[in-house]
Amino acid sequence: MTKFEVLILGNASAAPTPNRHHTSQLININEQYFLVDCGEGTQIRLREHKIKLQRIHHIFISHLHGDHYLGIIGLLQTMHLLGRVAELNLYCSDNIKEIIDVHLKYNRGSLRYPIHYVEMGSKETELFFEDDKIEISTIPLKHKIPCTGFLFKEKEKPRRINSKAILHHEVPKFKINQLKQGEDFIKETGEIVQNNVLTLPNLPSFSYAYCSDTAYHEKIIPIIKKVSLLYHEATFVEEHSDRASKTLHSTAKQAALIAKKSEVKHLIIGHFSNRYSDFGELLSEAKSVFENTQIAEQNETFKVSNP
Ligand SMILES: [Zn+2]
Ligand SMILES: [Zn+2]
Repeated sequence: MTKFEVLILGNASAAPTPNRHHTSQLININEQYFLVDCGEGTQIRLREHKIKLQRIHHIFISHLHGDHYLGIIGLLQTMHLLGRVAELNLYCSDNIKEIIDVHLKYNRGSLRYPIHYVEMGSKETELFFEDDKIEISTIPLKHKIPCTGFLFKEKEKPRRINSKAILHHEVPKFKINQLKQGEDFIKETGEIVQNNVLTLPNLPSFSYAYCSDTAYHEKIIPIIKKVSLLYHEATFVEEHSDRASKTLHSTAKQAALIAKKSEVKHLIIGHFSNRYSDFGELLSEAKSVFENTQIAEQNETFKVSNP
């Protein structure tokens, strides 16, 4: 069974408070970690959750507003102090390298590990990470500065082997991989055994879309269509929709409308303005449009494989 989980480290916008932390999420896909955004104090939050910093090899920064990246320099420095030598991949919609270089210049130091920077475009969706199991692409968002969300998608899984049928038809071990890819089995006698006799249907593949700061933006709908879990910012309630449009943020209702039009399975909302002491109104407004909505509560883990 695949592990595919999202841990919410912070869900606050604007100024952080002792209990409300800036945006950051840790995505765990089969024990491979992806850190998404790195607001102030993210390294502390990771430590609170006993996450080993050195196990993070990929960090994604949606945009260069402080509430999404001000924790990065502290995190990079701690990785250095802990003796990291492994390369770190840092993906951003803008030139974050320049910010880190300035810090290192005045710090008159260097990191003992290399950083591989990837500057992503923020206009069109692009695939920028791929391994044998997953793909990650950008979701261009509509904000005051270049900003991208991220779509994590499991690749189609191989068909499962039907052990009884394999024994019965005496399929040799070296044929197993071909069967998983959907090929038929041809016996030495020339008899063909159809693939569906020897295998079972593949398990479903799941997907997670992270939509950081954005105004209501219907262009993302085809990109995030039918994802298993959508995180969408919901900075304001409807009463403050004028603030939302001025600052290029979304209301909870708008986030829910995107979820509904995209036919996603499950929505979580976050990035709340700290003018709201509780999230009741945000949640009920979103639910009035898209029932399957939850607050992206800090410290909560959402399973993408079973939303
Ligand atoms: Zn923000
Ligand atoms: Zn922003």
